[in-house]
Amino acid sequence: KKPKVVIIGRPNVGKSTLFNRLVGKRIALVDDTPGVTRDRREGEAKLFDLDFIAVDTAGLEDAGPETLSGRMRAQTEAALEDASAALLVIDSRAGLTPMDRHFADWLRTAKVPVVLVANKAEGRSGDAGILEAYELGFGEPVGISAEHGEGLADLFEALAPHV
Ligand code: GDP
Ligand code: MG
Repeated sequence: KKPKVVIIGRPNVGKSTLFNRLVGKRIALVDDTPGVTRDRREGEAKLFDLDFIAVDTAGLEDAGPETLSGRMRAQTEAALEDASAALLVIDSRAGLTPMDRHFADWLRTAKVPVVLVANKAEGRSGDAGILEAYELGFGEPVGISAEHGEGLADLFEALAPHV
């Protein structure tokens, strides 16, 4: 059974873009649990010679403020079951938001290794955001650009010990 890596973060940080880059067209698995299919996409990911199942946790975009916390928790809990690692994605251009910190605090309570991914860092545009991201307490943020395919070797190095 392939290890599972869950991609987590607030809306618009680039989770789905990263998922698509890792999985391409290899979307293979569908969770048929009602209410879950809509929120999660899983696929066979390849990152250099790492093979794993990537899980894109989407579906928070249309949640209202009053339901967000509960949905976030339920979805993240479900996605983290049996996960070998979590990728906590932030937007290095936007800087940290309260919601990023919320996800970080939540993940700290989960017993899963967390790799902090500072996306949208093409060129040097994310440098300030990468520095700020150290505050989240997950060690050195891995600067990547999911859209432009930069930083994937660094992501490989950070993820390889866990999968
Ligand atoms: P999600 O809501 O976390 O799944 O985020 P999406 O993958 O839908 O991306 C949100 C927006 O960020 C889209 O407009 C993407 O094109 C953009 N985006 C994603 N990755 C990058 C990146 O590496 N650099 C830049 N500049 N934009 C990105
Ligand atoms: Mg998405």
